[in-house]
Amino acid sequence: MPTILVLVDHADGVVRKTTTELLTLARRAGDPVAVFLGSGYESARETLAAYGATKVYVAESSDFGTYLVAPEAEVLAQIAATTEPAAILLPSSPDGKEIAGRLAVKLQSGIITDAVDIDADLTTTQSVFAAEYSVTSRVTHGTPIITVKPNSAAPEPAASTPEEEKVTVSISDTAKRATVVERSERETTGRPDLAEAAVVVSGGRGTGGDFGPVEALADALGGAVGASRAAVDSGWYPHAHQVGQTGQTVSPQLYIAAGISGAIQHRAGMQTSKTIVAVDKDPEAPIFAMVDFGVVGDLHTVLPRATEEITKR
Ligand code: FAD
Repeated sequence: MPTILVLVDHADGVVRKTTTELLTLARRAGDPVAVFLGSGYESARETLAAYGATKVYVAESSDFGTYLVAPEAEVLAQIAATTEPAAILLPSSPDGKEIAGRLAVKLQSGIITDAVDIDADLTTTQSVFAAEYSVTSRVTHGTPIITVKPNSAAPEPAASTPEEEKVTVSISDTAKRATVVERSERETTGRPDLAEAAVVVSGGRGTGGDFGPVEALADALGGAVGASRAAVDSGWYPHAHQVGQTGQTVSPQLYIAAGISGAIQHRAGMQTSKTIVAVDKDPEAPIFAMVDFGVVGDLHTVLPRATEEITKR
């Protein structure tokens, strides 16, 4: 079976769900071999084994956090040179895409970004023009480097006992030219990460700027809070919570849109949600054409009542 390298996306060893999705997709095309760069591998070991990594290259060094992403690209290129993989998969995060671009230059390879699916023969699917069209393509030059959007595949566990190989990290002076001078943590809300949440409750222009009912319902359901671009552009909610073409793509079990009309650019970020519920006072709102359950009403009345009912149970 060909080797498919998967860059592990993690925070101090806590593996993000995107990695379990990449390992699941990699198994279709070959043997998934994980590449762990950074610190905290002990915390990552169990998850990588649970999702079928056949081998893990472990390059532990605090240098990865000290400089921007050039060292990651450099070490990944070194590992690729010895393993000669059939493809390299990375998350479509800002860092993942920058590493992928640098890697493609180093390996003189073709690159496909923001894939939403990968076949066994490494044909990829991308969703374009606000998900109106799907593009299928393949890299025909060098080692295919593919970044995959979060929530593109349902993670499927597959127990394995991966071999581990420590990699000695030697980073060139060139890769050390950009240093991280400060990190500011995003304010923690105690809510799950938007991209990974099983439940997302989103508010739009219809909130009139009051996200209280949206947050309360999200908390009652243990979910994350999303927002339409209209709400974000009005300064009512941070951009990190924007769902849609120019925001995040989510695919939760339950997506509740409150006061969101259902513009194509919003749908592009949530239409693969398993169950979609909309609350909108306009019965003609386009969002109702795509929902499993729709409530015509004022969200300031409907959401608190739903929250009350859910909290009672
Ligand atoms: P509106 O379209 O104004 O809808 C508000 C809805 O709230 C209406 O249906 C109204 O009936 C309802 N409402 C009003 N008051 C109440 C109430 N009290 N109770 C219940 N319902 C009420 N949009 C995104 O969301 N994400 C993106 O990533 C994104 N990217 C874009 C990229 C480009 C290039 C462009 C051109 C646009 C993009 N947009 C994006 C913007 C998109 O086209 C829409 O303008 C936006 O989604 C509208 O947001 P909205 O549904 O909250 O507002």
